[in-house]
Amino acid sequence: MVKKVLKFGGTSVGSIERIQHVANIIKKEHESGSKIIAVVSAMSGRTNELIKLSQEVSKDFDKRELDVLLSSGEQVTCALLSGALKDLNLKAKSWLNWQIPILTEGDHNNSRIINVNVDRINNFLNSGVAVIPGFQGISKNGEITTLGRGGSDATAVALAKLFNADSCEIYTDVDGVYSTDPKKIPVAKKIDKISYDEMLELSSLGAKVMQSSAVQTAMMYNIPLEVRSTFTDRKGSKIFDQQNIDYSKSVTGVAYSKDDAKITLIGVQDKPGVAADVFEPLNKSQINVDMVIQNVSSDEKTTDITFTIKRNDLMKTLQILQENGKIKYKSITQNDKVSKVSIVGAGMVSTPGVTYKMFRGLAEEKINILAISTSEIKLSVIIDENSTLNAVKKLHTIFDLD
Ligand code: ASP
Ligand code: MG
Repeated sequence: MVKKVLKFGGTSVGSIERIQHVANIIKKEHESGSKIIAVVSAMSGRTNELIKLSQEVSKDFDKRELDVLLSSGEQVTCALLSGALKDLNLKAKSWLNWQIPILTEGDHNNSRIINVNVDRINNFLNSGVAVIPGFQGISKNGEITTLGRGGSDATAVALAKLFNADSCEIYTDVDGVYSTDPKKIPVAKKIDKISYDEMLELSSLGAKVMQSSAVQTAMMYNIPLEVRSTFTDRKGSKIFDQQNIDYSKSVTGVAYSKDDAKITLIGVQDKPGVAADVFEPLNKSQINVDMVIQNVSSDEKTTDITFTIKRNDLMKTLQILQENGKIKYKSITQNDKVSKVSIVGAGMVSTPGVTYKMFRGLAEEKINILAISTSEIKLSVIIDENSTLNAVKKLHTIFDLD
């Protein structure tokens, strides 16, 4: 018998009707002979509402209590879905994280699943559907923990691994992974097959189909994923190992994000150790630096260092730089009206000229490039925020994705 983990995201369980619809999907799968573990998110918007409530109590709400609060969202959908399944005369049962248990390690609000007791549920699967709340677990000290926003994906992938499932299907409100944002760029195309690496680049670059750390785990353990829609029967996108994918195109997708900011330190001393002195305190404060560019110094004594960070971190970063007694510089400039546009494709490795083609395309649109970064399968540029959609459209066209 095939064993499947089916994960249903917030919009898929966003109302009672939708939960009943999901129950019908599960029933069909069960009747076709599969053992089903259903993982659910909280109803759409619920986690945000709970966070808001906590902030009304305190701007600095206790992290342990936040986990207790947030885990309740998934507990609700778990029980409702299980009830809906029973209403369809299916044997079903909800299991809370401590009842299984799902063991986690790491900090409150940001933990990881390390183990799951599979025996009882495996027994149950012989006849019934197990419904499990995503996004949470229990630490070895018996504390409820959550896995970070979007963490139900992480639960689904971890359970697929620990239960040795044959497949892990992520049901969501889009019918797959697209070559770019289909809501903004209507010519975007669904990608039938995509590699873990590409999916990772796309999801960390702003294509919010799946939580990136969940994709990373799937890649590590080679768990094939399928992203598909709860609301249509259409085939979804398969995410798996690169070897199984035939690449005819150099670029698979164009991603963008509008949550970056750029900082330039002008006139920094040009000598060994300066970059370390600049970035070490940022690292200590857990500020993620993305791109870094250092200019060639014109006078051989000073240089400019430009780097990008998440926009949320801008104020904190500026403060840390200003309080950093170790570094000397003439001035700081900042720009938070920037966006990052990236082309992603495993086929880029074997296709020369991709870089030049991207830059030429942007030049034709009169878009100025403020910073560049590359990896084997990705090329990102920072540009003015107002040019984002123009850039995405152009790149989508010139790389034959329309
Ligand atoms: N409910 C959680 C969130 O909104 C987890 C999830 O939906 O995956 O982040
Ligand atoms: Mg979600």
